[in-house]
Amino acid sequence: MSDRPVVTRIAPSPTGSMHIGTARTALFNWLYARHTGGKFLLRIEDTDRERSTEAAVKVIFEGLEWLGLQPDEEPVFQAARADRHRAAVEELLARGEAYRDYMTPEELEAERETAEGETLVADQVKGDIRFQNKDLDDLILLRTDGSPTYNLAVVVDDHEMGVTHVIRGDDHLNNAARQTLIYKALGWEVPVWAHLPLIHGPDGAKLSKRHGAQAVSEFDAMGYLPEAMRNYLARLGWGHGDDEIFSDDQAISWFDIADVVSAPSRLDWAKLNHLNNHYIRQAEIPRLADLVTAIHASRDLKVREADRAVLERTIPLVRDGAKTMLDLADATVFVLRQRPLDMPEKAASLLTDETRARLSRLRDRLAAAETWEVPALEAEIRGFAESESVGIGKFGPALRMCLAAGSPAPDLAGALVALGRDESMARLDDALSPAA
Ligand code: GLU
Repeated sequence: MSDRPVVTRIAPSPTGSMHIGTARTALFNWLYARHTGGKFLLRIEDTDRERSTEAAVKVIFEGLEWLGLQPDEEPVFQAARADRHRAAVEELLARGEAYRDYMTPEELEAERETAEGETLVADQVKGDIRFQNKDLDDLILLRTDGSPTYNLAVVVDDHEMGVTHVIRGDDHLNNAARQTLIYKALGWEVPVWAHLPLIHGPDGAKLSKRHGAQAVSEFDAMGYLPEAMRNYLARLGWGHGDDEIFSDDQAISWFDIADVVSAPSRLDWAKLNHLNNHYIRQAEIPRLADLVTAIHASRDLKVREADRAVLERTIPLVRDGAKTMLDLADATVFVLRQRPLDMPEKAASLLTDETRARLSRLRDRLAAAETWEVPALEAEIRGFAESESVGIGKFGPALRMCLAAGSPAPDLAGALVALGRDESMARLDDALSPAA
């Protein structure tokens, strides 16, 4: 292999969704390009004109953008390069490496004399794989309508884009042998091959609909953060010792194709959730607030301008338990609800006369609290329970009910801090007023 600067690429065919396997392929290509100081390119394989709608192409752009895996140059569109593909076929014909097939009227075939010998694919992941040329059937290069076939177009495009490393799913391993023949017939340097094993479902079976989400957009919609996806996908088929959590910079400095494993990897939701929780706990609060606001908006819960500060105050108090952004959104509903809150039926059984009287004593104590912070309020509540000679369990659930009306809410002191003193008092007054 010459020491050309590394160029990697992904070459998705627009299908209307971006599969998680394509995302992992994109990530490995991106990591390898970054690791070597090379380039990561995108080619849209849009030769199936019916499927390659503008919307389907947009899904790929958006998927890569969301994942944070931007290509280093403008995308190449394969269908626009048909002239280049035809020129390569002319070259093959001129070299005597292809022939016109007049026997099959609808197709123009071209192929090397491949009955003899074998073709080696020195794959960086799978090892050396030898294909008997007689098993590689005649390669159609160009159809009678002038359209190039997949194997021809890929070789011409990869060559002209300067691609040095083809890192892709192992469903293309056989094509690597055929493509090698075309490279050689054209006198071009064969790229380094690295074929990645498939991603399987948690049960070890090929990933399919029944395993749940498969599209990048679905992971987004389920509330996974892109940095969690990158960290998670990096570990599907590659790893750095026992390191579970690592930054992009670490992955870039550690990543090498030589360390990709050849066995299929399994999607593990528990691990993904664990990572996502980690990144939710690390993320900047304003960013989380934007994401939560968008989730609420999609559910017709408007976060008003005035609620923004409340939301930002609440997120740090509730995010430790959130596996996904949807969990985080759910955990913030209670602060956004408008007074007077609609109490669920079970509120009545919690708010007995005795408990109401107790809560109104607590209310006065809280109204006079010096600081409105979690540790101080925890101490207030404990002190109050002692002064009443009861456990917190005697009034805690009722207090929660007054504050959150059955929506999920953090611990009592956390809920009070999230709501703020005024709103907490107002909610308590609403719930304890004789009319309530
Ligand atoms: N367009 C092919 C696919 O979506 C990928 C071709 C390649 O990576 O060489 O499966």
